[in-house]
Amino acid sequence: MDLYKIGRFIADCRKKNNITQTQLAEKLHVTDRAVSKWECGKSMPDSSIMLELCDLLNISVNELLTGEKIKMEDYNKQAEKNLIEMKKLKEIADKRLLNLEIVLGILGVIFLLSMCFISAYIEMALWLKIVLIIFGFMVCIVASCVCLKIEQVAGYYECAHCHHRYIPTYKQINFSMHMGRTRYMKCPKCAKKTWSKKVIGERK
Ligand SMILES: [Zn+2]
Repeated sequence: MDLYKIGRFIADCRKKNNITQTQLAEKLHVTDRAVSKWECGKSMPDSSIMLELCDLLNISVNELLTGEKIKMEDYNKQAEKNLIEMKKLKEIADKRLLNLEIVLGILGVIFLLSMCFISAYIEMALWLKIVLIIFGFMVCIVASCVCLKIEQVAGYYECAHCHHRYIPTYKQINFSMHMGRTRYMKCPKCAKKTWSKKVIGERK
């Protein structure tokens, strides 16, 4: 996906429709800076406002993602290409998130261990030692909450019984038994409790 081309296309369509950056930003409830970033090719409009943006610019989402007007006969081909690229982008983002989870988890544990170490080996008042250890635990708990959130939203869980892929609720993630990233959870489709594996890729 060519962000620069998409940005130029947004700017062209906006001007054709006689809308200023500020007016567009106001209508979409985003900042002027966000609009200017899209137009410079530095970022993509969020998918939650894409439909509204396309409506205002009188183009289709497919054309927005392609960065140009599409002829009727090429429409389906281009739509498929865009869909595949969006999926690839999601897969890359999911992989990055899951790697971040590992880093965060390790950092949290290291932080807690170093707080314990410092309070065990360095001369200081008892209350300070207790504060340090509690602080270490708190950082560790916050890190694990973020890790669990990542596990919930990145990729999908696949039911071992019917192979349905789903995103569990945060509560389900919090209260399920797990071995690594495989979790014992109830499938929303067949309602069986199975060891569901974490998968990245297409939703089935
Ligand atoms: Zn199932």
